[in-house]
Amino acid sequence: MVNVSENIRKILAEIPSGVKLIPISKTKPEEMILSARDDGFKTFGENKVQDLVRKYESLPKDIEWHMVGHMQSNKVKYLAPFVYLIHGVDSFKLLKVMNKEALKAGRILNGLLQIHIAREQTKFGFSEDEVRSILDSDDFWGLKNINILGLMGMATNTPDIRQVRNEFRRLKKFQEELKKSYFPDNKYFNEVSMGMSGDYKIAIEEGSTMIRVGSLIFGPRN
Ligand SMILES: *Cc1c(COP(=O)(O)O)cnc(C)c1O
Repeated sequence: MVNVSENIRKILAEIPSGVKLIPISKTKPEEMILSARDDGFKTFGENKVQDLVRKYESLPKDIEWHMVGHMQSNKVKYLAPFVYLIHGVDSFKLLKVMNKEALKAGRILNGLLQIHIAREQTKFGFSEDEVRSILDSDDFWGLKNINILGLMGMATNTPDIRQVRNEFRRLKKFQEELKKSYFPDNKYFNEVSMGMSGDYKIAIEEGSTMIRVGSLIFGPRN
């Protein structure tokens, strides 16, 4: 039997205190989440809107929910009333919809801009230039009901550790550059969400502030 709380504790004991651990409970049953929550661990992430809504509805309301998967703009309305952070913001349209739905829900929605750092074609995300052009636009700064907390990225799925390290390093450098140029007096934009079960140690060495760990905590998925 997988002991979720014990696995969370083990990881927390070995990472720096400034790094946030987001346990990714996708595909795993509510009971596993509930037992960890009852032990005091109240942050979880999911990658599908439908699963996230179902788990939100059936579990205690003190859980901080993170959406880490690809986010379609027509589904933001289902998450807007409760989600804490959307990690994979990858279009200007999505930012605008988040702002609109946040306004309707009477909330501020937090997001991370997802940057395409991997070699694979399949992974979502902005290029660096696309992000600069969004941040250069007045439209973006007019979106008052969203807070951009930083960047998120997924490294190439490869045994080549040097490659992974370089991708993380570049993401961190880009966040620092954007922070300086666009958010100098802003208390937000300090986060870099990078690192999963297989590469979180490298990610932390390269300056990750948020790691998203699934299988190492909840066991392998089918
Ligand atoms: C599934 C998932 C994770 C966690 O993956 P593991 O390898 O199981 O740790 C992290 N981030 C995203 C975006 C995911 O979809």
